Amino acid sequence: MTIENAKPLILIVDDTPTNIQVLAENLIQDYRIKVAVSGEAALDAIARQGLPDLILLDVMIPGMDGYEVCRRLKSDPTTSAIPVIFVTAMNEATNEEYGLTLGAMDYITKPFYLPVVKARIRNHIRLKQMTDMLEAMAWMDGLTGIPNRRRFDQVLDREWKRAQRNYLPLALIMLDVDYFKAYNDSHGHGAGDICLKQVASLLAEMPVRSTDFVARYGGEEFVMLLPDTDADGARRIAEQLRLNIESMCIAHAGSGISEWVTISAGYAALIPQSQQAASLLLDEADRLLYLAKDAGRNCVMGCLPQDESADRQQRSAKTVNLI
Ligand code: GH3
Ligand code: MG
Ligand code: MG
Repeated sequence: MTIENAKPLILIVDDTPTNIQVLAENLIQDYRIKVAVSGEAALDAIARQGLPDLILLDVMIPGMDGYEVCRRLKSDPTTSAIPVIFVTAMNEATNEEYGLTLGAMDYITKPFYLPVVKARIRNHIRLKQMTDMLEAMAWMDGLTGIPNRRRFDQVLDREWKRAQRNYLPLALIMLDVDYFKAYNDSHGHGAGDICLKQVASLLAEMPVRSTDFVARYGGEEFVMLLPDTDADGARRIAEQLRLNIESMCIAHAGSGISEWVTISAGYAALIPQSQQAASLLLDEADRLLYLAKDAGRNCVMGCLPQDESADRQQRSAKTVNLI
C-alpha cells in the first residue's frame, strides 16, 4: 500500500456513470477510490499516480477492452501483483474462464448483489495486505529489522548495473564486530543479540544520501553500499562508522583489544567495467576486512591511489590504506 495506515486504494475502471456511482458510494467509507473511464486512462493513472491495491475492471470499455488491460498489467512486473476483479455484464462461463486465465483474482457478473461484491473485495484486499507484509518480511533481517542479505544482493545488482551504465564509482564497506564470539561467551547470547541490534540501528542512521544502503550480511557482519562514492569517500565513512561504534561504549569483557565493542572494516570502490561482476566489489571489501582483522582489529582497510595514501594515513591513524 502506498501510504502506511491509509485506507486501501481501489481503482474502478468503468465507463457507465451509474455503475461507477453505485460502487464508489458503497466503497468510499472503507477505501480510497479512483476512477478511470477507459483502459488507456486506467493504465495511464497507474503509471503516473502509483499502484492501487485492487482494480475493479469492466470488460466492455471504450478503446482497449478490460481483458487487454488485465493482460498488460499482468505482463508488467511492477503491476502484476495488483489484484484485478472483473465486474462485467459478460456472463458466459467462457468469458469468466478467459478473465481468470489472464490472471484476474475474481470475476463478478452484473447485475451484482452489493454485499457479495463488498465481501469479495474485502477478502482480496486482506490477502493483498498479507502478501505485501510477507513480501516485505522476506527482505528484512528478523533480529535487527534492517534489510537482509537477500535484499542486499538485489540492491547491489541494481546499483552495479546503474554505475556501469553511468560510469560512476560504486563503493562498498564490509564490517564485522571484533571478538563477537567472546562477547557472547562473556555477556550471554541475549546480550549479543541486543548488541547486534544496537550496531544495526547505528548503521541504519548513518547514511547521508538516500541511495546509501545498509544491510546485515550475516551473523555479526554488516555491509554498506555507497553509490556514486569513490575510495576516499568510502574511507571517510568507514572510519566514521568505526569511530561511532567505538563511541557507543558498549562494554565488551571478552575483547582482546578494547574495553568496548569495536568493529573492523574493509572498503572497496571502483567504476564497474562492462565485463566485471558485482562479486568483485564484494570480494575485495571482504579481503580487506580480513586484512583489517589481521592488522589488529578496530581499524579500517581499503585501497586508495598511491599518491594520496601517505597523507590520509597521517590524518587517520586508525585507517590503513592499501596501495
Ligand atoms: P573476529 O574478531 O575475528 O571477527 O572474531 P569473532 O569472534 O567476532 O568471529 P567468529 O566468526 O569466530 O564468531 C562470530 C560469532 O558471532 C559466533 C556467533 O555465535 C556469533 N553470532 C552470529 N550471529 C549471531 C546472532 O544473531 N546473535 C548472537 N548473539 N551471536 C551471533
Ligand atoms: Mg567478528
Ligand atoms: Mg564474522
